[in-house]
Amino acid sequence: MKQFHFMRAHDAAQAIGTDARLIAGGTNLLDLMKHQVETPDHLLDINHIGLESIGRDGDGLWIGALVRNADLAGDARVRDDYPLLSLAILCGASPQIRNRATTGGNMMQRTRCYYFYDTSSPCNKREPGSGCPAIGGCNRTHAIFGTSDQCIATYPGDMAVAMTALDATVHIEGPDGSRQVPAGEFHRLPGTTPQRDTVLEPGEIISAVTLPPPLGGRQIYRKVRDRRSYAFALVSVAVVLRIEDGRIATARIAAGGVAPRPWRVKAAEDALTGQPAGDQAFSAAIDAFMQGATGQGQNDFKVPLLRRTLRAVLHEAAGDSAMQEKVA
Ligand code: SF4
Repeated sequence: MKQFHFMRAHDAAQAIGTDARLIAGGTNLLDLMKHQVETPDHLLDINHIGLESIGRDGDGLWIGALVRNADLAGDARVRDDYPLLSLAILCGASPQIRNRATTGGNMMQRTRCYYFYDTSSPCNKREPGSGCPAIGGCNRTHAIFGTSDQCIATYPGDMAVAMTALDATVHIEGPDGSRQVPAGEFHRLPGTTPQRDTVLEPGEIISAVTLPPPLGGRQIYRKVRDRRSYAFALVSVAVVLRIEDGRIATARIAAGGVAPRPWRVKAAEDALTGQPAGDQAFSAAIDAFMQGATGQGQNDFKVPLLRRTLRAVLHEAAGDSAMQEKVA
């Protein structure tokens, strides 16, 4: 590993505007440094800048950027009012990693594309302009939505998929002040600048994520992966369905493991809202959600896999356990 200078920040102001690489849990960054994918000269420890609390935010919830994943998943307010978030976090990584990983760091984790971690391979995300060997190469885990001819990598996390479905807001502090971004717009599509994963500008930090008032309804997160734990999603699906008098009053759907950002399609939710909860509405929603899905070769299986997972989770959220077993 390349030598670096290590410093510790004591308040948020010291972390804003710096060109040092910020480190909190370090659960992704240290791997990237060991693989020489990231080689910062300066590391700034932000574990002691006071962003580790969870609190009420009006009728919603305020989650400091340094709240550990395990603490967030186990918080009674999250488990009671936002069970989707708790379920998604508990699907991620291992207990040891969840004890260290933070809310902000989870948002900032980088893709698990094999070529990105292999510094002997070209990679447009690591070295802009060098090429993308995943296109036409090993791309079993790669994206079916939101790709470009420069990068087809996925955002690998679970937590942000639930936050996207729950209409969370990311709070950002920078040298020019504060701003807020919807969680579903925090990660960028690659376009012609795949080296930029998120909308964060140099010198900005995530200070918190807020959740709006609870949606209620049934909330389900299902992650399909190669093994039952400590594996990234091939596809994951987050669904909230609130049904009143047999009709869908509230619908939220987001998917992970299939795009450079948590993938949410408003037309799919619109196809459900106001409809009787059943296969006819679910089929229309799934067709809307799958618009534009394109396999890259080795990952072609993700298209039917996502369709089936969406159908199974929608039936489960509607309380139709017999049907969800049939289609899973
Ligand atoms: Fe690099 Fe993206 Fe291509 Fe992977 S998919 S090799 S991260 S450019």
